[in-house]
Amino acid sequence: MTAMKRPRVVILGVGFGGMNAARALEGEDVEVTVIDQHNYHTFLPLLYQVATSGLNPADVAYPARGLFRRRRRVLFRQGTVTGVDWDAGLVELADEDPLPYDHLIVGVGARANYFGVPGAAEHAFPLYSMPDALKVRNYLLALFEAADARNDLIRAGVLNIVVVGGGPTGIEIAGAIAELITDVLEADFHDLNVRRARVILVEQGDSLLPMFNTDLQRYALEELRSKGVEVRLSTAVKEVGQDYVLLGEEGDYIPTRMVIWGAGNRASGLADSLGVAQGPGGRIITNPDCSIPDKPNAYAVGDVAAIPDGEGGFMPGLAQVAIQSGRHAAAQIMRTIREEPHTVLRYHDKGTMATIGRRAAVAQLTNGTLLTGYPAWAAWLGLHLVYLVGMRNRVSVTMNWAWSYFTWDRGPRLILETPRFEPPRRDGPYVPPTDVVQRHGIASD
Ligand SMILES: Cc1cc2nc3c(=O)[nH]c(=O)nc-3n(C[C@H](O)[C@H](O)[C@H](O)COP(=O)(O)OP(=O)(O)OC[C@H]3O[C@@H](n4cnc5c(N)ncnc54)[C@H](O)[C@@H]3O)c2cc1C
Repeated sequence: MTAMKRPRVVILGVGFGGMNAARALEGEDVEVTVIDQHNYHTFLPLLYQVATSGLNPADVAYPARGLFRRRRRVLFRQGTVTGVDWDAGLVELADEDPLPYDHLIVGVGARANYFGVPGAAEHAFPLYSMPDALKVRNYLLALFEAADARNDLIRAGVLNIVVVGGGPTGIEIAGAIAELITDVLEADFHDLNVRRARVILVEQGDSLLPMFNTDLQRYALEELRSKGVEVRLSTAVKEVGQDYVLLGEEGDYIPTRMVIWGAGNRASGLADSLGVAQGPGGRIITNPDCSIPDKPNAYAVGDVAAIPDGEGGFMPGLAQVAIQSGRHAAAQIMRTIREEPHTVLRYHDKGTMATIGRRAAVAQLTNGTLLTGYPAWAAWLGLHLVYLVGMRNRVSVTMNWAWSYFTWDRGPRLILETPRFEPPRRDGPYVPPTDVVQRHGIASD
């Protein structure tokens, strides 16, 4: 009977925000239900290593039910949330009955932002989920298989890999692909000159890693170039096609079958259907305590939320913000139940890091310390191991990293679904399609 009266907390998303909110409520006298479209938590910062055959999917994901198996008052439900009926206090689910809540935390994260670039949503590869990472891995490896089988495809751009965005995601994946080619694929392919592959990193701004100190930006640029990555700064993507990309004002034409999109993000699509005020990138604008204005007992946390930073802006889309805001929203729910006043979220910045590859990384600590090279790389490895969920995953990732480090090899180079590559067009694979020329009056790369 008592159990029936416990307040029902529903948490949308088992990402960094939702998972930490649920954990903070584990010992409290509330019934918690966590809903996610996937039955696992994904450690997004290491997704690029799954995409480039460095790690296995199971190394960077953790079963959601396993997270709460010892907590009888935390339930998990796999389902896709389609909306919230604010008046009735119901979470709406695809193909399932709505779920009532007394307190709600929205932590459904973000997705790629294509900034309206024509063709990007249709043809570019985002990196926001495990299925995304596996798709990138399949395609990437299949490109080399296709080039090995049919050399004419190389002239048609099958080994031109374009990475869009010079932020941490872009540089991490560009560096990892460059190393995959030189350290691993070169030995794997006996008849194919894999060095004909090009990794082209495109950044609209005039530097990489805009949020980092200029010395670190310069270091990242030099490291990437030393790995053979062609870095094009001050270059915007104009259009993405099935077998090409157009760059810059002049519309430089590059034949390619793989454009990886690491430029910017926007809030998960659910945010658009909630009827709440939205800020930059469609994120839900919250009050400083993470509550959603005019929606009683509802909170938004992590990447889906635009949480005021106290200086006129919003907190950045980082794992630490999601973790801290998830815990904070949980604490506010308990304050509401105890009839205590809410508190403002004060974000504790623990510094920023990005890795470029083997023994190459940048780290900018909150005390102003700047690290590059081996110390930054070691710090990056250590920090990711600490925040990775599950001891089994930590051991497995450590083993994989150690194996790669000492053997210069990578494990899971598996193509699980072989994509079909259209043969080169008859009007010439290395010249822009006629309609593209007419539309843009472009030059060939
Ligand atoms: C490739 C990549 C690399 C990154 N690297 C770093 C890094 O090095 N350092 C750093 O600090 N940050 C990094 N980030 C950002 C960091 O991962 C995010 O800030 C963090 O994951 C946000 O946590 P979240 O809980 O808000 O969302 P997420 O972790 O994205 O979780 C959202 C959850 O909601 C679920 N969901 C979404 N929509 C629905 C729906 N309609 N119904 C049900 N469930 C739904 C998703 O399945 C997911 O499990 C990276 C992000 C990416 C994509």
